[in-house]
Amino acid sequence: MSLGAAAAVPQESAQRARAVGVLGGGQLGRMFVHAAQRMGWRVLVLDPEVDGPAAQAADRVLRAAYDDPLALDELARACVAVTTEFENVPAASLQALSGRVMLAPAAPAVHICQHRAREKAHFVASGVACAPYAVIEREADLAAVGEALFPGVLKTSQLGYDGKGQCGVDDRASLGRAWRETLGGLPCVLEARLPIRCELSVVLARGVDGAMVHLPVQQNLHRDGILALTQVPAPDIDAATAAQLVALAQRLAQSMAYVGVLCVEFFVLDDGRVLANEMAPRPHNSGHASIDACDVSQFELQLRTMLGLPLVMPRQHSAAVMLNLLGDLWFEEGSSQAPPREPDWARLLALPGAHLHRYGKAQPRPGRKMGHLTFTAATPAQARATALQAARVLGLPAF
Ligand code: ADP
Ligand code: MG
Repeated sequence: MSLGAAAAVPQESAQRARAVGVLGGGQLGRMFVHAAQRMGWRVLVLDPEVDGPAAQAADRVLRAAYDDPLALDELARACVAVTTEFENVPAASLQALSGRVMLAPAAPAVHICQHRAREKAHFVASGVACAPYAVIEREADLAAVGEALFPGVLKTSQLGYDGKGQCGVDDRASLGRAWRETLGGLPCVLEARLPIRCELSVVLARGVDGAMVHLPVQQNLHRDGILALTQVPAPDIDAATAAQLVALAQRLAQSMAYVGVLCVEFFVLDDGRVLANEMAPRPHNSGHASIDACDVSQFELQLRTMLGLPLVMPRQHSAAVMLNLLGDLWFEEGSSQAPPREPDWARLLALPGAHLHRYGKAQPRPGRKMGHLTFTAATPAQARATALQAARVLGLPAF
């Protein structure tokens, strides 16, 4: 072996130690890239799309399918640890990486979270209450559904997001039609439509040693199945309920031996009951305010978990309201044919405590997440007041 080759080995491994990889190229990956680069890690992004939000920020992009063996091999060679920003990465791809790099989250947890029926089974097995539900995978399942699930919401087990892959069903006859025609006979779950008082989420991080920290409980308002805004601290729950939600999220993480950042969405019903809705094995839209309102963001927690770095409890230093900027805002009401125009950034940025995040997406489309605005302030009332002003500027309803 030549001296040159011997010297090259430690250099290559030193480079690898400073590089981390992300499977997925959306805005969650982009914000992860920003957090990791700030702390001095290089980031490789694996994304099949061209010029995606994360790729624009990455140190290096591997443009390939998530199950491309050469790309996965390159990721394992070039990075010390790999994470995901997208729960629909094939579990087999994660399996291919496991053992070669530190992987957070690991394949078994992603396998549960990417499938609603498995996820609900995990809630039940962990003793965490969720909506009454039935699994619909074949014709015969339709007749077996109990009356208590009507009216209900039928959801595809896989690949649903932002209210996509869902439809309301009033009775058994509409269930059959919805399942066959609207959702194409795909594996689904039917759950009872619930009287929801408010929606909340807990973002936690769990390390390889089992240590857990979490962001403050977030209160989320959805419109048309898409997250519209998040308030933190949550205005409509007491401290005991917040503690209960954190404990439930921790129980779910623990029972999956989870390592990484996990978000659990909850419903609080009109009668006060708390139900788990769904989990995301990654940072979550509802945790974006942590970038500007907490001393440790959900993306820094993601980096820390994947590298086995210490987890410290994030401290919220400002009250915050986060408004999602959907592509609808680029179009005059009712005229999605007209050329899109940007919202009035100057007026929005004139508001105190405004933090603008744009995801670098070229094409606005109704329902597409183009960015978000977080308003921070000394008190929740002030954060809400400025966010309400912003909502008026944007033409969004009050909350
Ligand atoms: P997604 O993966 O699209 O976020 P969710 O299951 O979280 O799917 O549903 C999106 C939103 O739809 C929820 O945040 C909630 O506002 C509403 N929703 C979902 N399930 C129910 C239900 N069973 N009853 C009433 N509203 C629901
Ligand atoms: Mg959801």
